[in-house]
Parts: sequence; C-alpha cells; structure tokens
Amino acid sequence: MEPVTVASAGVAAGGSAARTDRAAAGVQAAETVVPLRPVPRIDRARAEWAVSELLTALGYPAEGEHRARTPERVVGALSELLVPAAFLPTTFPNDEGYDELVVARQVPFRSLCEHHLLPFYGHAHVGYLPGARILGLSKLAWVVEHFAAGLQVQERLTQQVADWLESQLGARGVGVVIEAEHLCMSLRGVRAMGARTVTSALRGVVRTDARTRDEFLALTRRSD
Ligand code: ZN
Repeated sequence: MEPVTVASAGVAAGGSAARTDRAAAGVQAAETVVPLRPVPRIDRARAEWAVSELLTALGYPAEGEHRARTPERVVGALSELLVPAAFLPTTFPNDEGYDELVVARQVPFRSLCEHHLLPFYGHAHVGYLPGARILGLSKLAWVVEHFAAGLQVQERLTQQVADWLESQLGARGVGVVIEAEHLCMSLRGVRAMGARTVTSALRGVVRTDARTRDEFLALTRRSD
C-alpha cells in the first residue's frame, strides 16, 4: 500500500497536504537542514572476502556458475539494506500555527534484524502535533527510511523516529506505531508465519492527552 498522509479533524488528505505545502512554500528562505545519524562506510573487498569465507564454512563455497559472484551480490544487497539513501531533512517554521495532527499512514519500510541478519518489514504510522517547526510531508517517510536502513531492532527504530521528530521539530506531541513481520520469527525458530509485531512510541501531548492519543491511534488503525 502507498503511504498516505492525512490530517485530523476530518480534513481530507489533499487538504492537509495543500495547506502544509503552502506553509512550507512561504518560508523557503527560513528552511533549516537538520542532522541525521552517521552513515557507515562499507569496505566492499573485505566484505566480499568474508562472505566467501562464510559460504565455504557453511559448506557452500562460492564456486560454479551460480555462486561464483554470490559474495559480490550479497554485499551489494546488504549495502542497500544498511546504507540509507541521502535526503535533506529540511524543516520550516510553523508560521501559520497549524495545530492539528499531521499523520503519515502506511509508510512501507524494510530493515535488517541485528540479531539474525534477516529482514523485517512492514508499515509505520508517524504523526506529530506541530510546535515550532514543520517538516515537508514526504520527509516523514524519509525519516522512517533513514532510520530503518541499518542493523536494527524494531523497538529502537520506533524510538529513534519519535526522538528525531520530537527533538528536531519541537513537536508538541509525536506518535509512531510500527507493524512488522520478522523473517527470523516467521522462517525459523517458532515459524510464526504472518505474525506481526507492533511497537509504539508516544510523546508529549500524543501521550498525555487522551483525545489526541485516541485520534492518532484511530488514524493508525484505519484500514483504507
Ligand atoms: Zn531476529
């Protein structure tokens, strides 16, 4: 499903986007680029050697037409999962004083479990109640993508997205709900195929105010 950005109080998605984009467009000069986490450098030659060693140790040496270039492919695939795409997380002053929830629903993501090096993937629902600054709408999905790239555990990913929004936007409230399937749980061990793990991080007003919290959680549960 495509990520959908919605606003609260019954405002249609388009209305929310239009309003926030207008707010953003009016303050281009005042935009600020804020920092993200450091990105690891990958030593490809060493990684390919190590994958080749691993395959040999597992009894499947990198030989023959199919496996000869497997170390190279594995390192390429892992690099895609470990290194986040670059983006500029620009924020803007909330000059229009927008004070309703901004929620991006069904943001797809994939990550790599740091316990088993197997993928986990699913959707994130991310919302905030603007304070001093707002974020370009597509950037909510980019923040999820950024923190999902790397070796992760779902609990930490949920916290990192919430922490970033809270600290960088001065948001009055933040809500993050992540639903994911972990291949380390569905393909091995308990083999709970299709089981989904749900984590949440609620901050500020989204945590303390029952009406705002219910509104955010209701938006995350919508099935459309
Ligand atoms: Zn795992």
